[in-house]
Amino acid sequence: MLEKIVIANRGEIALRILRACREMGIKTVAVHSEADRDLKHVRLADESVCIGPAPSTESYLNIPAVISAAEVTDAVAIHPGYGFLSENASFAEIVEKSGFIFIGPRAETIEMMGDKVSAIKAMKEAGVPCVPGSDGIIDDDMERNKRIAREIGYPIIIKATAGGGGRGMRVVHSEAALANAISLTRNEARSAFGNGDVYLEKFLEKPRHVEIQVLADTHGNVIHLCERDCSTQRRNQKVIEEAPAPGISSELRAEIGQRCVEACKRIGYRSAGTFEFLFQDNEFYFIEMNTRVQVEHPVTEMITGVDIVKEQLRIAAGEKLNYEQKDISVWGHAVECRINAEDPETFMPSPGTITLYHPPGGPGIRMDTHIYQGYKVPPYYDSMIGKLIAHGETREAALARMRNALSELVIEGIKTNIPLHMEMMDDLAFCEGGIDIHYLEKKLGID
Ligand code: ADP
Repeated sequence: MLEKIVIANRGEIALRILRACREMGIKTVAVHSEADRDLKHVRLADESVCIGPAPSTESYLNIPAVISAAEVTDAVAIHPGYGFLSENASFAEIVEKSGFIFIGPRAETIEMMGDKVSAIKAMKEAGVPCVPGSDGIIDDDMERNKRIAREIGYPIIIKATAGGGGRGMRVVHSEAALANAISLTRNEARSAFGNGDVYLEKFLEKPRHVEIQVLADTHGNVIHLCERDCSTQRRNQKVIEEAPAPGISSELRAEIGQRCVEACKRIGYRSAGTFEFLFQDNEFYFIEMNTRVQVEHPVTEMITGVDIVKEQLRIAAGEKLNYEQKDISVWGHAVECRINAEDPETFMPSPGTITLYHPPGGPGIRMDTHIYQGYKVPPYYDSMIGKLIAHGETREAALARMRNALSELVIEGIKTNIPLHMEMMDDLAFCEGGIDIHYLEKKLGID
């Protein structure tokens, strides 16, 4: 097993990784910014190294500082968590070239999946269903582009191949608007990402976001851990996630899961990963692959019993997966609410000191968070301060537990989005299951 690892992240995921390491007897090094000395996992880690000032560009994104922390502590591997350096192919490469194990896929895989056109090409070749679109990037031949768009059928979406985080996309409803929209998207992409390449896709009007979790070891074993539904979103940010996705038959699950497994084998995937799909009219359309552990991984852990972070650590140590596909089954239903330090109405971040904290409890309740009474939420980072997960025998049972847990959860001193979650747990359409990705924004009156 790995002897000692660096946890190159902060907050709840750093604590989640630390807990997995402690269960497995792996020593931990917490790297943190000057603003994060009081993080819970920093106190619990075997060693800690301050890697720079508060701004993440000078600390959590500072590659030389992270590498030197690994060097001075004699760590053997680095876990990047999610966000920060987790999907940075050159970081993964530098980690391995410096003689450490990167707890994630190979750098080439991250690079291929980071470019949307090459990711879609690889997925198409592997038999994963994709959104109908231009075959790769388009050129400036407008007659040709009009023909391609007509064949796809309006509305279409123009996407920058280097885009991310919901940026670099534009919807077009008619041929008259096409040429102008292409050049606008190109220019924006050029200035935002330094790459003006764009491609066309059919715009799906009412999709759900459904994703498949996979695990792959270095011995050619790949399994999928079923799907999650993350359709409750605001500005492309997931707010509530659940597993399994309402209304997906076990046959469809097995089929799409198998396609993802095959794709992983074809590209030589390693570690945990997620295939993100838009799902409409009972069809899956691949949009991108996330080559890291996801925020919402706990809902999958709750319904399958698999500890995804421990499997990542075992895979990185060169061990075989603990499971075969036949060992994986869905038990019950799990829901996750992302708890953010923000105003529930304006969504403005609300950093500050937590003056009172009472976590919820009881059967089927899990609270993944680094906060504690007296902890000061810094203003420099993402506003997510924790995740509340409820598991039950059925979806109704899980939602009932979530309602209870939300009513027990007390966080004072800062504003949080707990009221929004309470409202959603009583929302008729949400409770019925299967809302599309625009539902929450429509409910909030955002368009
Ligand atoms: P990013 O890398 O910016 O997250 P994605 O390709 O994952 O880009 O798309 C982000 C979001 O944009 C999706 O979750 C979905 O809401 C919307 N979107 C992307 N492609 C389409 C499409 N073809 N039809 C409808 N919506 C889309």
